Amino acid sequence: MYLLIHKARKRFGQNFLIDNRIIDRIIATISPKRNDNLLEIGPGQGAITIPLLNYVNQLNVIEIDLNLISILESLEYSHLIIYQGDVLKFDLNILPMPIRIIGNLPYNISSSILFHLIENLDKIQDITVMLQKEVVERMGANSGSKVYGRLSVMMQTFFNINMIFTVPPESFNPVPRVDSAIVYLKPLAQPKTKNIKVFEKVVKLAFSQRRKMLRNSLKYVLTQKQTDIDLSRRAEMLTVDDFITLTQDYEKQH
Ligand code: SAM
Repeated sequence: MYLLIHKARKRFGQNFLIDNRIIDRIIATISPKRNDNLLEIGPGQGAITIPLLNYVNQLNVIEIDLNLISILESLEYSHLIIYQGDVLKFDLNILPMPIRIIGNLPYNISSSILFHLIENLDKIQDITVMLQKEVVERMGANSGSKVYGRLSVMMQTFFNINMIFTVPPESFNPVPRVDSAIVYLKPLAQPKTKNIKVFEKVVKLAFSQRRKMLRNSLKYVLTQKQTDIDLSRRAEMLTVDDFITLTQDYEKQH
């Protein structure tokens, strides 16, 4: 158990883990090796960080909250490398690769963090993170399902998605209003598309007007003549492979 000398800040999505059994299971899931290049996003007061330091030669962490940075620095671990800043602006190139990403993510920006990681996919070995359970379910949803959307398409295109275990609200302080889950994400050996930027753009535009026909949402990108995908359909009815086809058809025009 950790002494809570820091008042949790909602705007930074701070819900600190206080359940040692859950922390042990997270570390078992990560299964750290001495020389792994780990990056923990949002170490907070060190709930996962401190036990993890026993297993690795070096641990990199990126934390936005200056107050928490002072707490972490006061621990004086020589093999804990602390970066202060916003993970969404953090340049992963400064770290040794391949990087293993871990963390109990701030839920308010979890999708943005995942999209940022996709843009850096070539540097990443794997990702073990805590998310809202509902977000993990959205990731794995199939086309036609209510929760299928941009996150599902983006994640299924680049990762094998494996929900490892769920975590109840009482495992955190303050107690969140939602259930959580640990998910393990392994980049696909053969990514379904190489052109991440274009793929992102097509998927984002397609889902920007979820209820509209694709010919409206993609009107500045593709016309019906340029693709065999029926553009009178809505984004939520397209499979991941359909989005790959749309991207390839777009690339042929540009
Ligand atoms: N790892 C700790 C734990 O499990 O108790 C804290 C997890 S808490 C859910 C999320 C952490 O991410 C907080 O420490 C918060 O300050 C940090 N955080 C929030 N937004 C961030 C950002 N944009 N960049 C880096 N860290 C951020």
